[in-house]
Amino acid sequence: MPIEGGNFRADQVSLLAGTIHQRCTDPRLGEWLEVLADSSLADDPHSDPGATISRLHRDYKRACRLTTELVEAMSRATVIGQQRWEVARHDQNFSHFKPALAEIFRLKREIASRLAEPDQSRYDALLDEYEPNAKASEIRQVFNDLRPHLVQLSQQILDARHPPNERILQRKAAKESQRKLSELAAQRIGFDFQRGRLDQTTHPFCTTLGPSDCRILTRYQEKWLPAGLFGTLHEAGHGLYEQGLRQDWYGLPPGSYASLGIHESQSRLWENLVGRSYPFWQHFWPETRSILGKTVQDLSLYEFWRSINTSRPSLIRVEADEVTYNLHIIIRFDLEQALLENELSVDDLPDAWADRYESDLQIRPPSVREGVLQDVHWSAGLIGYFPTYTLGNLIASQLLTAARDQVGDLDAQWRVGEFSPLLDWLRAQIHRHGQCYSADELIHKATGKPLSSAPLVQHLRTKYAEVYRL
Ligand SMILES: [Zn+2]
Repeated sequence: MPIEGGNFRADQVSLLAGTIHQRCTDPRLGEWLEVLADSSLADDPHSDPGATISRLHRDYKRACRLTTELVEAMSRATVIGQQRWEVARHDQNFSHFKPALAEIFRLKREIASRLAEPDQSRYDALLDEYEPNAKASEIRQVFNDLRPHLVQLSQQILDARHPPNERILQRKAAKESQRKLSELAAQRIGFDFQRGRLDQTTHPFCTTLGPSDCRILTRYQEKWLPAGLFGTLHEAGHGLYEQGLRQDWYGLPPGSYASLGIHESQSRLWENLVGRSYPFWQHFWPETRSILGKTVQDLSLYEFWRSINTSRPSLIRVEADEVTYNLHIIIRFDLEQALLENELSVDDLPDAWADRYESDLQIRPPSVREGVLQDVHWSAGLIGYFPTYTLGNLIASQLLTAARDQVGDLDAQWRVGEFSPLLDWLRAQIHRHGQCYSADELIHKATGKPLSSAPLVQHLRTKYAEVYRL
């Protein structure tokens, strides 16, 4: 779209958002939901009808707290925001984006104030959209437990005397070979190509167009193997969750994902905990060698496995490794809360961002493109969204630890290419419940414990001790 076309698009999008809001807050809908909420159908909140009623009622009440004018204004601000973000990012000039971002935060403050329940902070009210019932204070507690371990481990890694050879990953590999390999990997972990597709794009994602139409998209870089392969495993993990939701409840709470944290736990589990594990590669190495040919011919499996688990502080979140990734998220979590509570002004954001990278990751972005302008989220009004990425990592480790107790010797299964016992367990514990249980309840039911940072810390310490010979 030409840059001048944006305002008209913003008009159209905000009109649609307003119309949808009016339909969703129709008083008749409220009356029907009241009747249903008082009926015996709602007695068991974990039953299909009970969960449907309670979730739709909750969404209805939330929508009614906002005016159509506010919804339209927010929608317009985010369309404009994304356009300004793109220009500012291209020009590496934050001032082109600043007024739009200030407007987004102003509107979000108003929305949050209207949505907040008596026991919720404004941030909680926004978080609720992505992670129902989560509390910023509880997330902060888990992040505070996690952070010192990450800082310490990443320092040990920097000091390690026998790091893996990360240049292996920059070897040239034809895109077509990478596509073959990625498709095979997605198939192997159970992605159903009769009910989904794998295609190429600029920014990888997974989207569902219908109950049997899940699209995963990835990108291949000729001189950076992990982008395509692990990008595909990540999106295929999201896809496995979508394909595991019950089709007969498609579009309704029992057939919808529980929360973004749970969704991300599925992608991270397959990408990192399975896809970067040694047993996975014991199975997948011969096929990789035959597909990638010369690129990896001189390497041992062990050398290759170490290289795909390289860790190094970096500026760009989406390219970060398992150890440093969560430090990126904690920075955004802190900054967006400060912005929302007016403790930090948008004017000071680029410096605040760079200062945090310097203190937390010992690396200062040379430009706003590698700094505050790298992620699209805030320009799209996604505030309260970032913590769900780290929640995903934490949940993934906790789930896998429980699966190891309940499913048997997963490593032995992966070594011979058997991934269905783990997938079946995830289907039974997580996928088939949709929104019949909250994220917290699902974690508790599957693992017997509340969310904790311990399994992720344990996983990272064990794995990186071996990769870096610490
Ligand atoms: Zn994801």
